Amino acid sequence: MKRQSDEKTENAFTRTLVYRLYPSKADQVRFQCYCDYRRYVWNEYKDENDHAYQRYRYERTYYAKVGIKVKAKEFCSKYPTFARTKKQVNHDKKAWEYKYPSKIALMAMTDYDNAMSNFINKAMPDWGKPKFRSKRSPRQGFKLPAESLKLNGRTITVAKGRKDKKHGNLVLKSRQSFLDYPIGTASFYTEKGRYYVAVPYLIPKEELKSDDKLKGKAGIDLNVDHYNIYDGKHKLIDLNMRQLKFYYDRIKHYQRLLARKREFDKKNTGSRNYLETRAKLQRDYRRVADIQNDFLQKLVLGLCQKYGQIVIEDLDVKHMKMGVASKGLHRSMFGTFRSILTYKSEQYGNDLVVADRLYPSTQICSKCQYRKTGDEKITLWGNKKHHTKHNEYVCYNCGNNIDRDENASINLYQYLDSKWYKEKSRAEKQMA
Ligand SMILES: [Zn+2]
Repeated sequence: MKRQSDEKTENAFTRTLVYRLYPSKADQVRFQCYCDYRRYVWNEYKDENDHAYQRYRYERTYYAKVGIKVKAKEFCSKYPTFARTKKQVNHDKKAWEYKYPSKIALMAMTDYDNAMSNFINKAMPDWGKPKFRSKRSPRQGFKLPAESLKLNGRTITVAKGRKDKKHGNLVLKSRQSFLDYPIGTASFYTEKGRYYVAVPYLIPKEELKSDDKLKGKAGIDLNVDHYNIYDGKHKLIDLNMRQLKFYYDRIKHYQRLLARKREFDKKNTGSRNYLETRAKLQRDYRRVADIQNDFLQKLVLGLCQKYGQIVIEDLDVKHMKMGVASKGLHRSMFGTFRSILTYKSEQYGNDLVVADRLYPSTQICSKCQYRKTGDEKITLWGNKKHHTKHNEYVCYNCGNNIDRDENASINLYQYLDSKWYKEKSRAEKQMA
């Protein structure tokens, strides 16, 4: 992968925007064909490479006996007998393949090569082997280099295949306007009957920078069903929107219906009735996601336009998700909030501070900085020794009695002045 020059990235940042597309019936068919073509190329290429990989593994032991070391990443480029290269495959295309944009095939193979080199790379042990792509998977798509697409107002144009005599270029419409500076790879995909394109942009920074007047500071404490914001005044943001409750109840209802149908007879899972209910369930999931996303976008935008400095906790979301309150955690959207806040604060030039993981924001008294330790600590269920409730913070030093989460948000607000922050920055200085 080529890197952007430093000069370019200093004044600009990349951001991917997702647009919903509204293709006509005929274009939907073509869209689907392009997805199928990418999947075909991927699977064919994968098949060939799998054989090559097996042979490489076999010959590696052979070479090792002779005393030659073959590096994994060389197995297809330096030893082309193992597998054809991307270029060769593209050259040996079958006649019918020319009906499709050849870049789709090239992108599929590039992605496969990248996935494979990640898999082989020992520095990234979490990467699995690239998988077979099924036509039954709920999400289908194809990718094209963004530079090769024509973005014009609200339309995006995909050039037709070289030998496609039947169609013109594929013109897809969106309801939002595209921007002028696409970069990298645009991915088209379809999911649950909707069509989307994700276009990465290199957005110049000046254009979006907010007022320099924003000097305020805010601490945000994230909780399962509410966020607490403190900026001198306390503000509670309730995540249990009434709208959502309606959908959650209905999702529960549909899930029960489906479970009952499955239980009654396994054959039911393909029945018209079953599929209809499943479609309704998926529709409700989608609406919930839309509502949540809309809510978070507006919330974060408001925060970014108001405060120069935003302090949040560093929560190990993945770790916490394994715990008991999993459903609530999922619904409180920690991860999404964090990622939206990250890119929005970059966009608007806010200073996003992530408090150290060890900063005990729930255990400190926001008034006198007294820190609870040992069996005085507050847990999710309050404190057993002192019989305090789960949602209150009672300081044993100064008698401060305050809502637990409010206290935490004030602590985050004060984080930059705390000794934890000073220690952390001192340690960082020593490292550098
Ligand atoms: Zn206190």
